[in-house]
Amino acid sequence: MTVLFERVALIGIGLIGSSLAHVMRSKGLAGEITGYAKSEATRAKSVELGLVDRVFDSAADAVRDADLVILCSPVGTYGALAQEIGPALKPGALLTDVGSVKGAVVRDVLPHLPPGVNFIPGHPIAGTEQSGPESGFAELFINRWCILTPLPDSDAKAVEALTGFWRACGSNVENMTPEHHDLVLAITSHLPHLIAYNIVLTAADLEEVTSSEVIKYSAGGFRDFTRIAASDPTMWRDVFLNNREAVLEMLGRFSEDLSALQRAIRWGDGETLFDVFTRSRQIRRSIIAAGQDTAAPDFGRNPPKAQ
Ligand code: NAP
Repeated sequence: MTVLFERVALIGIGLIGSSLAHVMRSKGLAGEITGYAKSEATRAKSVELGLVDRVFDSAADAVRDADLVILCSPVGTYGALAQEIGPALKPGALLTDVGSVKGAVVRDVLPHLPPGVNFIPGHPIAGTEQSGPESGFAELFINRWCILTPLPDSDAKAVEALTGFWRACGSNVENMTPEHHDLVLAITSHLPHLIAYNIVLTAADLEEVTSSEVIKYSAGGFRDFTRIAASDPTMWRDVFLNNREAVLEMLGRFSEDLSALQRAIRWGDGETLFDVFTRSRQIRRSIIAAGQDTAAPDFGRNPPKAQ
């Protein structure tokens, strides 16, 4: 047990904030954890679950004297929160976040920070479709990547300290620019969510295939999209509003490739279809080889019990 930061403040205590609290508790990484959430219900639950030592109904009060402050709310809230906590941050404090976009976060947060505060944006590539303070668990970040996007004038010691924190949470850490992060995540995370939201809507609006048939036969592939499409609407609204350019770029490429598949189907071009499906299967195998998913059939789901 090594205390890495004497006092850590969590601003937002949902899936990611509560998972961080669990891992800090289990590994003794923080001397004290303070917290702020928007609703009284979440604040009360966070105390009840022992996620925080003290909870506040003001973000500024929660960050006072904190050595590490982690923004864990939807990215659309960061600008107003930074404005509120800026004057209360102690000199030398390390401020980071876990938001799923990075360029917009730098744009919204940086102008509100006093000199002497180290701001190093971050994004753990780990999550589930659950949300709220009860959904977190200490193992969430194990063997997952955490991307840090240090700014040109970021203090090297602060970057090292934050890297050590994420490694202690079980993550591998990589640095890149905020712009590059947003492009990478547009294709690996944001576009897949958009496609999942859209296919669920398409299925829901069908007239000749009933909703009950869609649900009954969902193991044909549809249900895997519904897991992604069950993700938090506020969080994902904010992601698309704040990573517009990169998502539109990837969506344009996706639409072109989809049109090519559509054409291959129309003209009975089996060779093209076979080639695309073979390349895709290879990508799935590389993800398993990289330890980012299980090779077990059907994502390791248990087989249905005999009736
Ligand atoms: P979540 O479970 O929905 O929790 C969000 C938290 O933010 C709650 O504590 C909520 O408080 C608080 N909050 C909401 N609006 C707020 C406001 N205006 N001011 C202050 N606090 C506010 O969300 P999450 O999944 O942990 O996501 C949090 C962040 O992590 C997001 O920026 C997201 O992009 C990023 N992220 C998510 C995932 C994922 O898979 N979920 C993965 C990586 C990164 P109340 O409960 O009181 O409303």
